[in-house]
Amino acid sequence: MSDSSYYTTLPGEGLEQKLDPRLAALVEAYPEPTLLLSRAGIVLGANRPSETTLGPARVGSPVSLTLRAPDVIEAVREAGISGASQLVAFNLRVPVERSFEAHILPIYFDQATKSGTPDLIMLVFRDLTQAMRVDQMRADFVANASHELRTPLASVTGFIDTLRGAARDDPTMRDKFLNIMSDQARRMSRLIDDLLSLSRIEMNLHRPPEAAVDLVPLTAHVRDSLSPLARGRGVEIVLEAPSAAVQVRGERDELIRLIENLVENALKYGANGKRVEIKLRAEGSEAVLSVRDFGPGIAPEHLPRLTERFYRVDVAHSREQGGTGLGLAIVKHIAARHRARLSIESEPGKGAVFLVRFPLSTG
Ligand code: ADP
Repeated sequence: MSDSSYYTTLPGEGLEQKLDPRLAALVEAYPEPTLLLSRAGIVLGANRPSETTLGPARVGSPVSLTLRAPDVIEAVREAGISGASQLVAFNLRVPVERSFEAHILPIYFDQATKSGTPDLIMLVFRDLTQAMRVDQMRADFVANASHELRTPLASVTGFIDTLRGAARDDPTMRDKFLNIMSDQARRMSRLIDDLLSLSRIEMNLHRPPEAAVDLVPLTAHVRDSLSPLARGRGVEIVLEAPSAAVQVRGERDELIRLIENLVENALKYGANGKRVEIKLRAEGSEAVLSVRDFGPGIAPEHLPRLTERFYRVDVAHSREQGGTGLGLAIVKHIAARHRARLSIESEPGKGAVFLVRFPLSTG
């Protein structure tokens, strides 16, 4: 009980009674943050998780000095009188905003009583911050995905109406609208493909791939498959890779996707740099892959958020390029599944480098 504290007598309640050390040991062993209180709300003990989560307990003083949560204090007071257990949700703002629920549990030493004034009160906390954050992220993701799909869908529906009405007998307008509709349909289809890829990779995140894959031919494959796009944009793709194999444990299709997404981004956003470099090398126990462009680069405030789903520096520009906002989220997930590290370096005006460090496979 070195880090946590226990009061051994119940003060000021007319019963100077010893706190049974077995009770203290029980609270100490409990994994959730827990406070032990007298029926009048004096703190008798706090276990280690409580000290870590809520800060040091003021043992021997009213619980209001340990916990700044008026609703919980009031519920403790009521439980001390009525003996009824309570569940209270509350937030703490210091040192950071967190959400908790507190279970206020009256304890009776004599199992026959179980009502009226309890002997002690146990206060057990559950930190809900992380779970609520995950819920919020899930809700945001669904809202974003629906919004991304709704926009092209609204456009297609609008043009269907126009084709049925005003543009019905105008072949020029009809062709123009059909082209736009076809673009929008392709956009929806790309988005659905990306969403499905992301969920598939996420599902396997905890199962790292086992096959040995040589990254050298994959980089050449991506360079070749993206060379028409590069040519169309007047960009030269330069590949620098060793002649010997650079092997990692991986899934070929996912690795191609990762390299493709990075090179495609370099071609989409860095085309005015006229040059994209793919470099692969073995360095110590790592395979290091880098994709560099010499375009406008990325301002530092965006860097930490680029791999978030649907985050774009410039939404309109990304859409013009056929982007879904999921490319780098997919890269991040594939890297994570391969136990690789992704880092992004950029200086505005000087292009951007995306670096992925894989553990080399020795087998
Ligand atoms: P998108 O489908 O929009 O390309 P990504 O997740 O691949 O989505 O990329 C997110 C955003 O990061 C892009 O919209 C763009 O603003 C920025 N970005 C990615 N790669 C580059 C790059 N090489 N140079 C400049 N900006 C980039």
